[in-house]
Amino acid sequence: MNPDRYRNLRRDTELKYINVHPIQRGGVLTPEARKALIEFADGYSVCDFCFEGRVDLVETPPVRDFVGDVAEFLGMDEVRFTPGCRHAKWAVMSTMLEKGDSIVLDSLAHYTSYMAAEANNLEVYEVPHSGYPEFRINPETYADVFEEVKRETGEYPKLALLTHVDYRYGNLTPPEEVGKICEEYGVMFMVNTAYSSGLMEINGKKMRADFIVGSGHKSWASTAPIGFVATNYEHVEKLMKTSTIRGRWSGRGFTKKEIAFYGCSPVFGAPLITFMASFPSVVERVSRWEDEVRKARYFVREMEKIVGFHQMGVRPTEHTLQNFESLPFHQVARKHKRRGYFLYSELKKRGVIGVHPGLTKNFKINTYGLTDRQINHVIWAFKDIAEKYGLEVED
Ligand SMILES: *Cc1c(COP(=O)(O)O)cnc(C)c1O
Repeated sequence: MNPDRYRNLRRDTELKYINVHPIQRGGVLTPEARKALIEFADGYSVCDFCFEGRVDLVETPPVRDFVGDVAEFLGMDEVRFTPGCRHAKWAVMSTMLEKGDSIVLDSLAHYTSYMAAEANNLEVYEVPHSGYPEFRINPETYADVFEEVKRETGEYPKLALLTHVDYRYGNLTPPEEVGKICEEYGVMFMVNTAYSSGLMEINGKKMRADFIVGSGHKSWASTAPIGFVATNYEHVEKLMKTSTIRGRWSGRGFTKKEIAFYGCSPVFGAPLITFMASFPSVVERVSRWEDEVRKARYFVREMEKIVGFHQMGVRPTEHTLQNFESLPFHQVARKHKRRGYFLYSELKKRGVIGVHPGLTKNFKINTYGLTDRQINHVIWAFKDIAEKYGLEVED
């Protein structure tokens, strides 16, 4: 054991570099959140005035109002906070389904969707995606997979999950279309908005969503870990089922505590405070999403001037997260003494960080929230590296 090694933990990623890390752009704190973070950094900081034994009911700071505002912002009726989108999915599956039930999810779903299903002993059926290079999810395929589940198990699935924007290609699948199909079949519908809510406008009612789950640290300018699950009145009782346990000897009961949320809340303190403090900016920024997409498309056009660079997924891109295939850089890596790490270090030398160290053949970049100037700098860095290694770059 060497406790001294923890004495000087530092991180200068956001200070010294332009960070294009695929999962980090939407989670960069607002100045307001950074300030609130310091004041509420101590342990149970949001519990000074807790009178009802539940974080979501605390009025100072105004968590109770915040719960209502987030629900309204998402076009849903009720919200609870969770330590990330992953726990939100787990909470839905553990409360709404029984062991052995079938669920349907898109084949670009995040691993945490599979884990939530596995932890709750559910059967998982996948909606296939199209092949290279689009990897598109066709909403109508949900109906086919519902029929497949019926053929195999004798009944339709209980729940369908759609990854609104997937983490591999940044493809956006229209939830309204999947929601319509779910409604026709009487299948509950959960939309995973980890890469969309907090960045773009979300309306759960229009999506016909029973559950919306999302991630504060990925897309709502928050400190990890925080996420949420939103639902409609119809499911409140079941999802937010309160405790009925009685101590056999003591007779103790906890009737106000919600079981799937560990009684009070599985997340509070600093993550919750930053989520709240960034909310005013988040409400505002979702209206600027079109501009983010415009910048992302410009970025793709310029990157593809490096001959052999291709944006994977649906085109033109509908998100700030891109997956690039870059075979020329892969060729360079094969001969380079630092192998695949050459790209990471060449970018770092040019002030750009966030491309996964070691990757060259395929890598992801997120431009969310970068200024035009910063985006141009990233483009310059890539083209400059390409030219240094004798690759062809179009004007
Ligand atoms: C990042 C991501 C998650 C995980 O979110 P957490 O809030 O970290 O649990 C889940 N699903 C998708 C689609 C993601 O992109």
